[in-house]
Amino acid sequence: METHQYEIALIGAGPVGMFAAFYAGLHTADTLVLESLGEVGGQPANLYPAKTIYDIGGYPSITGAGLTDQLHAQLDHFNPTVVTGATVTAIEDAHPGFTLKTTAGDFHTASVIIASGGGAFTPRPLAVDYDHALDGQSVLYNIRDPHDLAGLDVAIAGGGDSAIDWALALAPVAKSVHLIHRRNQFRGLESSVAALAETEAQLHTPYLIAGVQQQDARLNLQLAEVRGTAHPTLSVDRLLVNYGFVSANTQLQNWGVALTRNEVVVDSTMATSRPGIYAIGDAVTYPGKLKLIASGFGEAPTAVNAALLRLHPDRRQPLHSTQLYH
Ligand SMILES: Cc1cc2nc3c(=O)[nH]c(=O)nc-3n(C[C@H](O)[C@H](O)[C@H](O)COP(=O)(O)OP(=O)(O)OC[C@H]3O[C@@H](n4cnc5c(N)ncnc54)[C@H](O)[C@@H]3O)c2cc1C
Repeated sequence: METHQYEIALIGAGPVGMFAAFYAGLHTADTLVLESLGEVGGQPANLYPAKTIYDIGGYPSITGAGLTDQLHAQLDHFNPTVVTGATVTAIEDAHPGFTLKTTAGDFHTASVIIASGGGAFTPRPLAVDYDHALDGQSVLYNIRDPHDLAGLDVAIAGGGDSAIDWALALAPVAKSVHLIHRRNQFRGLESSVAALAETEAQLHTPYLIAGVQQQDARLNLQLAEVRGTAHPTLSVDRLLVNYGFVSANTQLQNWGVALTRNEVVVDSTMATSRPGIYAIGDAVTYPGKLKLIASGFGEAPTAVNAALLRLHPDRRQPLHSTQLYH
């Protein structure tokens, strides 16, 4: 068991936790980052690495993977202790501070910042019986780089932002793109839906996927018309399933902090109901909260400064990084 006591422990290394850990380092805090997945980066790294993000200040556009790389470079500057494969299950009072119980052992810290986002997430699966040996081969739930599917016939199942973004990203590189959606209207941003109409992507609406069979190196998709009788078959090389994600954030309920609809309630300093424990990013709720990376980036300095002020009430913190960075 590790006996060292950190000043700040971050639970979760999504974009918000990574930036908070960097910011804590900027203020010379002894910082620990605990991440349940095998790699840092949270949703952008794992759920949409190849998608382009347009609403991060200073980046006109950047992919999920690109943003993760930048956050990694920033995080590395102060070299905090990062433990991956460590799921925090309990936060126990340790007098002083807390003991974090994790699947990788116990860790001690004077304060905690919860940055666990939407919790552990998995893609919503295709709702038909098919051979799951095809998963990761010809049936895909995520891809890192659209060029992985260059020159292939690709079907995309789904009608939300993510499915449309994939269709836009794949249209210039794939041999053909087929978007299969159960409604005639798509739920994406209007500008994205308009951009989709300018591509050669073929829209199959209103259709559901009723069957998936491998034949030689191809996939036969049996489509079923919604409230209709048509049952065409579509032959493609790959099926990319984009039905959104299911997230489980049950650990939060064991951490003794006040929750509303399974989100951590925080005040204007990002303090939770439990003194010494703060929360930021997608995990929190307060009036006007927006689940955006930019919002979480704004919450990180507030939480770090509040945590450090509580630990060191006499310490005067320079406000600007230009005064801190050497
Ligand atoms: C398809 C898609 C597109 C998006 N596009 C945009 C966009 O364009 N712009 C934008 O601003 N936002 C976008 N978002 C939302 C954005 O990704 C989130 O707001 C952001 O990821 C929240 O960051 P976070 O660090 O709070 O949480 P997350 O990214 O969810 O990271 C939380 C991390 O905590 C870890 N964790 C959870 N529980 C534990 C535990 N018990 N112990 C240890 N670790 C734990 C998780 O494994 C995860 O790595 C998009 C989201 C999706 C799904």
